[in-house]
Amino acid sequence: MIRFTILKESARSRARAGILETPHGIVETPALVPVATQGAIKALTIDRVYDAKTEILIANTYHLHLRPGEKTIGKAGGLHHFMNWQKPLMTDSGGFQVFSLGFGEDHGVGKVLAKKRKKIISTGDQPKKLTITEDGVAFRSSLDGREVFLGPKESIDIQESLGADIMFSFDECTSPLADRAYVKKSLERTHRWIKASLRARRSRAALYGIVQGSHFKDLRQKSAAFANSLDFDGFGIGGDLGTGKDVTKSILSWTVPILDKRKPRHLLGIGKLDDLALIIKGGADTFDCIVPTRYARHGIAFTSKGKLNMAQRKFLSDTAPLDPKCRCTVCATHKRNYISHLYRAGEISALSLLTFHNLFYYHTVIESIRQKIKNGKL
Ligand SMILES: [Zn+2]
Repeated sequence: MIRFTILKESARSRARAGILETPHGIVETPALVPVATQGAIKALTIDRVYDAKTEILIANTYHLHLRPGEKTIGKAGGLHHFMNWQKPLMTDSGGFQVFSLGFGEDHGVGKVLAKKRKKIISTGDQPKKLTITEDGVAFRSSLDGREVFLGPKESIDIQESLGADIMFSFDECTSPLADRAYVKKSLERTHRWIKASLRARRSRAALYGIVQGSHFKDLRQKSAAFANSLDFDGFGIGGDLGTGKDVTKSILSWTVPILDKRKPRHLLGIGKLDDLALIIKGGADTFDCIVPTRYARHGIAFTSKGKLNMAQRKFLSDTAPLDPKCRCTVCATHKRNYISHLYRAGEISALSLLTFHNLFYYHTVIESIRQKIKNGKL
């Protein structure tokens, strides 16, 4: 089980600083939860993940179910042991991958739309590659084509075999292109699924109830009230999160006041550097985001002077560290010229160096936000 203690609540916003206690140690919140999709932070060994000041990770149920399978991980002593990660761990429900593999892939969209687009998904529509029924989602494995079925019970069973400290209830993450009628119907199903997830739990692991409802205010509020009425240990606010940060801000402002404030709130899949203050002020205690690690693999370093693209030729003659103000070991020992050379030459160490710095940098920015909350400045 988990215990959440609020240390300081902001008088200026819904931000709060707290301590999330789990059987594998504590997390100071607000906190970034880096994404270990397949049980690893891409490009880093686990000792480097610790060194980058990471306190908690989230792994993906969908990916680990397909490969190597929860039985293999269970036999290895659970995911903590398998990865040799001894700190807190979350697993998602698989609901987001179902969206991503379904309508997300059909229409080439993620959980945030870059620009407004016409709603093209309505009641009765099904994605090409999977079938959504009242019981769950059937699809073929992208690895070997075998049929897979994922519903609330299956998701919880898999997550319990993985053995994370915090699990998420199974939901349908709707597409930003879904119209109101589709979202309304999907939400009713998601509500049945999150309730069934709670019933399926047999372990003492914490379970968060997921709030959906897309960018429709009344549906979000209804969903928050429903999740709040059940015996969850915390809440996950899921996407789609509309057309950008204004919508994310609105969604938080509609849902957070309804949720029991003594329970932790996790924002699923959001956390661009520019949005951190906004989502923390909106009341998110934790949030997972692939941005720091994925951008690193595309040559991007986050710095106090903005994003730097190490693919650019100009960095070959730049003898400064990635960020002169950063106290990470990469910035202490390497210069932009070398990292740019490694990246341009396709050396895999470039990806490790950039991933490490970006994670450390993100955690440092969030540390300072945490401090501002404690000092009453945010
Ligand atoms: Zn650094």
